[in-house]
Amino acid sequence: MSREPPTYANCIGGAWEREPDTMPARNPATGETLGLLPRSSRETAGRAVAAAKAAAAGWAARPVWERAAMCIAIGSAIDERRSRIARTLSEEQGKPLAEATGEVAKAADGFRLAAELVRQMRGETIPTEDAGKFVMTIRQPRGVYAVITPWNFPVNIPVEYLAPGLATGNAIVWVPAPTTSVVAVSLMQAIEAAGLPPGVLNLVIGEGAAVGDEIVVHPDTHGIGFTGSAATGRRIAERGAGKPMLLELGGNGPVIVYDDADIDRAAAAAAGGAFFNAGQVCAATGRVLVHQRVAEPFVDKVVEHARAVVLGDPLHQGTTMGPLNNPKVAAKIAEHVEDAVARGARLHVGGRKRPDLGSDLYFEPTVLSGVTREMKINREETFGPVVPVLSFRDDAEALDLALDSEYGLSVGVFSRDTSRALRVAEAIPAGIVNINGPSTYWELHLPFGGGSGTRSGVGRLGGKLTLEAMTELKMISLHRG
Ligand code: NAD
Repeated sequence: MSREPPTYANCIGGAWEREPDTMPARNPATGETLGLLPRSSRETAGRAVAAAKAAAAGWAARPVWERAAMCIAIGSAIDERRSRIARTLSEEQGKPLAEATGEVAKAADGFRLAAELVRQMRGETIPTEDAGKFVMTIRQPRGVYAVITPWNFPVNIPVEYLAPGLATGNAIVWVPAPTTSVVAVSLMQAIEAAGLPPGVLNLVIGEGAAVGDEIVVHPDTHGIGFTGSAATGRRIAERGAGKPMLLELGGNGPVIVYDDADIDRAAAAAAGGAFFNAGQVCAATGRVLVHQRVAEPFVDKVVEHARAVVLGDPLHQGTTMGPLNNPKVAAKIAEHVEDAVARGARLHVGGRKRPDLGSDLYFEPTVLSGVTREMKINREETFGPVVPVLSFRDDAEALDLALDSEYGLSVGVFSRDTSRALRVAEAIPAGIVNINGPSTYWELHLPFGGGSGTRSGVGRLGGKLTLEAMTELKMISLHRG
């Protein structure tokens, strides 16, 4: 007898509420239905905003120490459920269980870090020209935050906003990505179990274009935290114009490998940066620019790394790469690889779907060389397990290729000449440059975000920067009389 798949609910004002309209949650490794999710209406999202608004003042009035203690309790609640949340994350997102376990552990740390940082936050007193004035600044919560998150790190990315947002006294309405909303329910349950008052955090599941848009435009949300694609980010910037925003968008990180680089190290880092989480990482190694003198040994080594990847069921021990998360990303990757091959790139390994592994979302780790400027794989974000290699003749051409991009999130530089590497790091308009290490290097407290004037986003996440961005800086002048 087959078991009925569970029906999941939104959490609004502390109540778990089902929605009449539903959508299936799927396991990308098998295609099985994991359950039914709410396909919430705009009206439901509006009720969540109202619940947050009702809870906001009470939460903001709690002493900072109390909010910090709540964050620590949430961290412990996540730790207690680590293996269960990680399994759900792996089943629904498709990443190997070991990676999922690491992601959940980091989420608990994220709440503890926010607790630590919020107790350190302070305003200042500022000397004035006018002898009659005493001026100080204070930081206050903005009110109700709209938080919208993607499916590639569906536990860590939400926590990057939820932990600092709650610690600083904001109420929040959170819209997770539809293809990873079961794990959002698990995270919400942990947060609720820690004792967060009803309405301070509200979870609304549904299509982003409906519920995400509703919380962006709603007059009772006062700030926006969004991580997702550049196209959606642009739309949110327009629809939410005037509200403070953190927009963490896409990337197509060039990794530049000079002829004096440690080639073993560069190849391992490029492969790691392209294959981790099946390449579904905003800071993934999007394209590799290699000096023509070292291109051949570099490609050979990356191919060895690709062959060593164990593609398979993410719940099996030993699997190092699972399926892609959803058909949309799978179609884009296949299109980029086909376009590159049709235009003359050489396929060394991979390039195929592997439905024999359990679903049509398995895609082999892929290495291409002879990639050129006009190919889609060079111009657009691929978001998959592909290492596209372009070669260059000299430093000027390397820089030109690196700069010829609309994105500016993460850049990698491999060279034993640190002066040269620093010069390149300074010259490229990106938010992050990793020298002699993988493009996916990330720690919770480090600044993370896109370079100005690029499509990769606005603002910086990370440590105290997020707490600052999610608070209002108020100047108060006191007339001494
Ligand atoms: P997406 O933009 O399609 O969706 C992101 C979220 O926005 C989802 O929750 C979706 O439901 C919601 N959404 C969709 N349309 C909306 C609308 N009109 N209004 C409001 N919300 C809407 O992105 P995705 O495919 O889920 O995620 C992959 C993208 O995220 C990649 O481009 C990747 O580079 C980017 N990303 C960036 C970072 C970063 O920190 N810079 C981190 C991870 C992922």
